[in-house]
Amino acid sequence: MSSTVGQVIKCKAAVAWEAGKPLVIEEVEVAPPQKMEVRLKVLFTSLCHTDVYFWEAKAQNSAFPRIFGHEAAGIVESVGEGVTELAPGDHVLPVFTGECKECAHCKSEESNMCSLLRINTDRGVMINDGQTRFSINGKPIYHFVGTSTFSEYTVVHIGCVAKINPLAPLDKVCILSCGISTGLGATLNVAKPTKGSSVAIFGLGAVGLGAAEGARLAGASRIIGVDLNPSRFEEAKKFGVTEFVNPKDHKKPVQEVIAEMTDGGVDRSVECTGNVNAMISAFECVHDGWGVAVLVGVPHKDAEFKTHPMNLLNERTLKGTFFGNYKPRSDLPSVVEMYMNKELELEKFITHEVPFHEINKAFELMLKGEGLRCIIRME
Ligand code: NAD
Ligand code: ZN
Repeated sequence: MSSTVGQVIKCKAAVAWEAGKPLVIEEVEVAPPQKMEVRLKVLFTSLCHTDVYFWEAKAQNSAFPRIFGHEAAGIVESVGEGVTELAPGDHVLPVFTGECKECAHCKSEESNMCSLLRINTDRGVMINDGQTRFSINGKPIYHFVGTSTFSEYTVVHIGCVAKINPLAPLDKVCILSCGISTGLGATLNVAKPTKGSSVAIFGLGAVGLGAAEGARLAGASRIIGVDLNPSRFEEAKKFGVTEFVNPKDHKKPVQEVIAEMTDGGVDRSVECTGNVNAMISAFECVHDGWGVAVLVGVPHKDAEFKTHPMNLLNERTLKGTFFGNYKPRSDLPSVVEMYMNKELELEKFITHEVPFHEINKAFELMLKGEGLRCIIRME
C-alpha cells in the first residue's frame, strides 16, 4: 500500500456524466489527501435512495459529472497533513455528514448537526481548497456528500470517517453508514420506547425497518407497521413487526385506526416515509399524556405540517431527527459493536449483491422498489 502514498492513484470509478443516465465505469485519477483528509480504498458500497434522488436530479441542480455513493466500508490507504487519529490500514465507514469535534453542535451532547461538516448535497468539492480530488485527463469530476464511494479510491475529510473494529465484516457493516443507522437511532436515541411498549412505524423501507429493529431491541411488545405497499409486509415480518395497517384498506384516517387498535394510541411512533400526511398521522396516532412521535422522512420542499395545537397540549411530543442522532465518529463504532455482539441483525437487510461493473443493476432494483439493500462489491 505504501507505494501509493503521496502519489496520484489511477483506479476505476462509476461516473455519472448526466442526470438519470446510466453510470459509466471510467479510469479516474485520485489525488493524494490534503490537510485533515484521508484517502480510502473502498471495498464495499451500497446504494441508498439519496444517491438515486440526486442522480435523477429532479428537484435540485446536481453538479455533473459526479461520483455518487455514500453507504460504504473501506480501509485507509494514506493520510494527509495533521491527521493523527487515523492511520493506513484502519477499517472505516465513511459518513455523508461529519463531526468536527470543535463546534457548538459537536460539543453539545444533544446534537449531531456539526456546523462544519453537516451534510451538504450541493457542494461537489473538498472544503480544504474548494477543489475536487477526482479527475479524468485533467477534467474535474465532482464529489457527492463528501464521500463519493462509487470509486475504488476516494478522499474524505477525517470528520466524516468512523474508525471501526477491524474484525467487523465490511460487506455487512457498510450498510450502517446511512439508512439502517438512521432508523435504528431514531427509535433507540430519540423515540426511546420502553420494554413492553407499543410502537408504530410508518414506511417499511430500509430506514423504517431499521427503526423496527430498534423497537425490537428496545423490547417493544407491539410493533405496528404502516405502509401503502402491501408487498412490504411480508419482508417486515422478519423484522419483528407484529401487525400491519395499510391506510388504503380503511375509510377512517389511519391515526383513528391505530387509536382503536391500541386503546387510545401507541406509546411511540417513527415516521420513515417522507410523506407529510403520514407525518401528521404518525403524530396524531400517539397516546395523549405520554406519546412521542419522531419524524425521519425528508418531505417535499413545499410541504407544511398541520395539526390542531390541542394535540400537543394533550401532552403528545413531536420530534425530528437527522441520522438517528448518532455522531458519526463518536457513536458509529458502537453501532458496529451491536452487530458484532449479535444484538443487531444486518443480514436480513441485504437482499442483493452485484460486482462493481454491474452497478447500474443496483439502480434498476431500487427504481423498481425491489429488495432493501444491494451490496456492490468493488473487487
Ligand atoms: P423507501 O422508499 O424504501 O421506503 C419508504 C416507504 O414508505 C415505502 O415502502 C412506501 O410505500 C411507504 N410510504 C410512502 N408514503 C406513505 C404513506 N403516506 N403512508 C404509509 N407508507 C407510505 O425509503 P427509505 O430509504 O426507507 O427512506 C425513508 C425516508 O427516510 C426517506 O424520506 C428518506 O429521504 C429519509 N431519510 C432520512 C434521513 C434522516 O437523517 N432524517 C436519513 C436517510 C433517509
Ligand atoms: Zn462540528
